[in-house]
Amino acid sequence: MRNVVIIGSGCAGLTAAIYAARANLKPLVIRGAEAGGQLTLTTLVENFPGFPQGVQGPELIELMQKQASEFGAEFREGHVTRADLSQRPFVLEVGKERIETRTLIVASGASAKLLGLESERRLLGHGVSTCATCDGYFFRGKEVAVVGGGDTTAEDALFLTRYATQVNVVHRRDQLRASKIMQDRLFRNEKIKFIWNSVVEDILDAQKREVTGIKLRNVKTREETLKAVDGVFIGIGHEPNTGLFRGQLEMDDLGYLITREGSKTNVPGVFAAGDVKDRVYRQAITAAGSGCMAAMEAERFLEAEP
Ligand code: NDP
Repeated sequence: MRNVVIIGSGCAGLTAAIYAARANLKPLVIRGAEAGGQLTLTTLVENFPGFPQGVQGPELIELMQKQASEFGAEFREGHVTRADLSQRPFVLEVGKERIETRTLIVASGASAKLLGLESERRLLGHGVSTCATCDGYFFRGKEVAVVGGGDTTAEDALFLTRYATQVNVVHRRDQLRASKIMQDRLFRNEKIKFIWNSVVEDILDAQKREVTGIKLRNVKTREETLKAVDGVFIGIGHEPNTGLFRGQLEMDDLGYLITREGSKTNVPGVFAAGDVKDRVYRQAITAAGSGCMAAMEAERFLEAEP
């Protein structure tokens, strides 16, 4: 029987692990399908306090994990396939293993959204990517498209200019949603071109198992065009990883967990931290902060138990 199990090993989960481990609770961290979370998919993090020169995302995660391990946190690979929160101890299944725990911290984050095209699914990993920082290198000397108009799109597009000859930002409106500073950087970069008011109708060529172009439709004129590109990056945001808890934990209309009084969910003893409950801030530092809160609340919950 565990005192604390933490689902997720991103910034939120690891901060919760540091706090719970320092409180001698010997937390178990289940690392999840996207171990290390969003920070492992990024490069330089310039806004995490304490690093005036910036820090590489994967390095920051590695440091947090080391810190948690040194205080006694345990780590397990794999992801939770079933969770029963209907009674305590809570029961989790990770593959064939059954884990019982007195408290649970859900820090399972949010995953990249897809457009939902059949060709996109078939070409994922064959020229279609949701992670510029992971796959940008493969597009050296090539032309690519990035879909979306938010900060994720902006970051991806800027990163890709390191490798690609031209980066085409395809956005369904004629105005970006990205923050002003990112917009300025995009507009200043000569390698970045914009295809406004357009949606991707299809990605070619699923049969050849490689990306050769995109079929675009202008939403204003309805005109359809073909644009030759060698890669497509989907940068349209994220979806919370909460499917496992549907019907058990309260969620909002987008599936983000609802918490009250800090990180408490509707089930006593279950706490939530990080992007899985945050559709507003979604920053490394806010995730870390909420991980700390969740661990402190789990500790208090255990202390108050008979
Ligand atoms: P956002 O929801 O902010 O943006 C998503 C973008 O994708 C929007 O432009 C949206 O279009 C477009 N989009 C969504 N669905 C589709 C679709 N099906 N087809 C075509 N286009 C679509 O998500 P982000 O991930 O960019 O950002 C989330 C939060 O994280 C924000 O608060 C952001 O500021 C923050 N963030 C900050 C970063 C930084 O500071 N460096 C980096 C990344 C994220 P439309 O505009 O028309 O809705």
